Amino acid sequence: MSYSLNFLGTGTSHGIPVIGCKCATCTSTNPKNKRYRSSVLFTKDGKNLLIDTTPEFRLQALRANLNELEGVLYTHIHADHVHGIDDLRVFTTKTSLPIYGSEATIKHIEKHFTYVIKSETAYKKAAVPHLYTNVLEAYKTYNIGGFEVTPLIIYHGDMPIFGYRIFNVAYLTDTNNIPEKTLEYLKDLNLLVLVALQHKEHKTHYNISQAVAMAKRIGAKQTLFTHIAHGLEHEKDNADLPPTMALAYDTLEMNFEE
Ligand SMILES: [Zn+2]
Ligand SMILES: [Zn+2]
Ligand SMILES: [Zn+2]
Repeated sequence: MSYSLNFLGTGTSHGIPVIGCKCATCTSTNPKNKRYRSSVLFTKDGKNLLIDTTPEFRLQALRANLNELEGVLYTHIHADHVHGIDDLRVFTTKTSLPIYGSEATIKHIEKHFTYVIKSETAYKKAAVPHLYTNVLEAYKTYNIGGFEVTPLIIYHGDMPIFGYRIFNVAYLTDTNNIPEKTLEYLKDLNLLVLVALQHKEHKTHYNISQAVAMAKRIGAKQTLFTHIAHGLEHEKDNADLPPTMALAYDTLEMNFEE
């Protein structure tokens, strides 16, 4: 079996460069310092599964030549992970598209984006997305469009949100606390994708040293850090990481044969 993972975006909530910022990262011409909001795309046998719809989803889809989607998994309700939802409409001109998340996430989307939900929309012929919602339970394994998906609880400050294990890759963004039960589901990973925000500690995200410590504990073959703020400059901070770890960057693609 082979599948791939494409980093559509690796930036924190405001994206990099930050509007108006003149710091070394934001003014860098290195493409690895230009970060759209965090999202990844899994691909297997020509089928695609997306995690989150960022405010740059349209640009990310164009850059990745994305023209087919089996569904969307949502991690949580924050704007940087959801607000590109309207641009899913091009994937629903012939059929509706399933979206997935925790009960809290799905309730939030149904409440705040009423018009995109197939069962509730009164504008079926209008140019709006036709999405249908699916609540997932943590720690249950699902087959979604041919992908083996297990939602895992992680804490984003006080808020429980979903990370996902898909085959032997785990995607854990926006967290500063991974509970013991979830750690049991993170064994034998080929790749761990984990948030590493910046050098300074933060209330709801791991900083780089906490992320490295957690990645060592999880012990995946390889770890890539994402959801990166402008406090991390790609070349400089990447060079300081242990050999099995690196900063992810937009358009990075990882291929797996299992
Ligand atoms: Zn975020
Ligand atoms: Zn900056
Ligand atoms: Zn968040």
